[in-house]
Amino acid sequence: MRENQKSITVIGAGLAGCEAAWQAANRGVTVTLCEMKPQQYSPAHHYPGFAELVCSNSLKAARIGSAAGLLKEEMRRLGSLSMRSAAETAVAAGGALAVDREQFSDSITQRIKSHPNITVVSGEVTKIPEQGIVVVATGPLTSDGLAQSIREYLGSETLSFYDAAAPIVSYDSLDLDKVFFAARYGRGDADYINCPMDREEYERFYQELIHAESAPLHEFETGLTVYEGCMPVEVMAKRGPDTLRFGPLKPVGLTDPKTGKRPWAVVQLRRENTAGSLYNLVGFQTNLKFPEQKRVFSLIPGLGSAQFMRYGVMHRNTFLDSPRLLGAAGNLRKEPRIFFAGQMTGVEGYIESAASGILCGMNAVRLLEGKPLAVLPRDTMLGALMGYISDEQVENFQPMGANMGILPPSPQRIRDKAKRYELAALRALESLQLAIDRDGLLDGLAPGIAGPTGLEELLSPNAQE
Ligand SMILES: Cc1cc2nc3c(=O)[nH]c(=O)nc-3n(C[C@H](O)[C@H](O)[C@H](O)COP(=O)(O)OP(=O)(O)OC[C@H]3O[C@@H](n4cnc5c(N)ncnc54)[C@H](O)[C@@H]3O)c2cc1C
Repeated sequence: MRENQKSITVIGAGLAGCEAAWQAANRGVTVTLCEMKPQQYSPAHHYPGFAELVCSNSLKAARIGSAAGLLKEEMRRLGSLSMRSAAETAVAAGGALAVDREQFSDSITQRIKSHPNITVVSGEVTKIPEQGIVVVATGPLTSDGLAQSIREYLGSETLSFYDAAAPIVSYDSLDLDKVFFAARYGRGDADYINCPMDREEYERFYQELIHAESAPLHEFETGLTVYEGCMPVEVMAKRGPDTLRFGPLKPVGLTDPKTGKRPWAVVQLRRENTAGSLYNLVGFQTNLKFPEQKRVFSLIPGLGSAQFMRYGVMHRNTFLDSPRLLGAAGNLRKEPRIFFAGQMTGVEGYIESAASGILCGMNAVRLLEGKPLAVLPRDTMLGALMGYISDEQVENFQPMGANMGILPPSPQRIRDKAKRYELAALRALESLQLAIDRDGLLDGLAPGIAGPTGLEELLSPNAQE
C-alpha cells in the first residue's frame, strides 16, 4: 500500500469517535469520520457539535489518586483530544474537572473539522463497511438501523439495548465475619459469598427497600419494558413481603455455619472479575438513586461498610457482549479490521468512552501499518478497563466505569485508602510509561499531541473527589 493510501473509517463523532479519528489523523492516516447529526439525532442528543455531553458536564475527579483522575492523566499521556479541549473549556468545580459543554463540543468540532487528514461525512451509517479498517463508535444510543445490522452481523444475543445492572462492591470492604462462602446445596467450590439475614433483619431491610427513592427515567426511557429476569429488586419487593424470599433472596440449600441453620433470607454475592476483587449483588438490578442504594444495601449483613464500585442502573444503553467478541486491543476477535470504541463496548462514562477511542484509533493505525496491536498493562486504568470488557470469564456482562477495584491489588498491604490509591496511581503511570517506551505507543504521533501534567498539580492535597 502506498503511503498516501493509508486510511480508516470512523463511525460516530462522539467522544470515542473523535478521539479515534484524532489519534489516526495525527499519525498521518486519512480518516473518514461519519456522523448522523445534524440530519438525525438520538433521543438524548440535541447539539449539532461533536463530542456532545448529553447529561452532566462533569468529567469527574481531577486528582490522580481517584480512578477518574488517573484515567484522565493516562489519556493526556496518550495524546487525548478531549483532555486538551477540556483544559481550555473548564469551569470551576472544586476538585472535579467540569466543562462548559457547548464550548467543549465546539472546541473538539473545530479541531476535527480543521484537521487536514479528516473528512467528515454527514448522515446515518446503517451497515458496517465491508472493507477497510473501521472503528464503530456510535454510542449507547446507536441508531436503530445500524444496531439492527450489527445484531445480524454478530448474532442477536450479542447486543443489549438497556442496562439492568446490579451494584458491585469491593471484596476488601466486606465484613467477612458476617458472611459465609458456599454454593447452594454445596454445589461448586463455595463460589458465592452469602449474607444471611434473620427475620428481623429481613423485615427492616424490606421496609427500607420498598420506601426508598427511585431515580427518574429520561423521557425516552419511560416506555421501556423490562423483562422479568431483569426486574428491579425494589419493584419485585413491592409485589409482597415474601416475594424476595422466594426469589433472589431465597435461603434454600444454604446453611449458615455459625448457627447450623438455614437463614430466613440470603443475599448472594457473585464474583465479578477473575481477580476476585469485585462482587455483584445477585438479582439486585435496581433503579434506586445512588445514595439510596448505599443506605439500603448497607443494611445487608456484611455490607455495613461496603464500598460500592458501581451502583446499579437501568437505562437505555446499546452495548455489545464484549467479553465474547472483543480483544483487549478493542477489535473483533473474528474480524480484526473492525474495532468498537466507546460506551457501546461496555465501558461506562464520558472519559471511559473517550479513552477507549484513543486506544482503538492508535491500534487501527498499528493494524494498518502491520505492527502488533497495543494491549495496555492491566495495572493502568485503561488497561484494566479494556481487560475487564474483554475478560471471557465475565458472565452476564454489564457496563463498567473506571474504579480502583478493577486494578490488580497492591503487593504491599496499605491500610490508608487515600495512600493506597495514590500509590496504585503512581504505579499505573509508571507502567504506562514503560509500555509507551517499550511498544512505541506514541510513535508517529505529531509533536505536541501527547504529554503529562505536572505531578505536583495532580497530587494537590486540596483536590477532592
Ligand atoms: C441519557 C444518557 C446520559 C448519560 N449521562 C452521562 C453522564 O452524566 N456522565 C457520564 O460520564 N456518562 C454519561 N452517559 C454515558 C456515556 O458516557 C455517554 O453516553 C458518552 O457520550 C458515550 O460516548 P460515545 O462516544 O461512546 O457515544 P456518543 O457520545 O453518544 O457518540 C456517538 C455518536 O454517534 C452518532 N451516531 C449514532 N448512530 C450513528 C449512525 N448509525 N451513523 C452515524 N452516526 C451515528 C451519534 O449521533 C453520536 O454523535 C450517559 C448516557 C446516556 C444515554
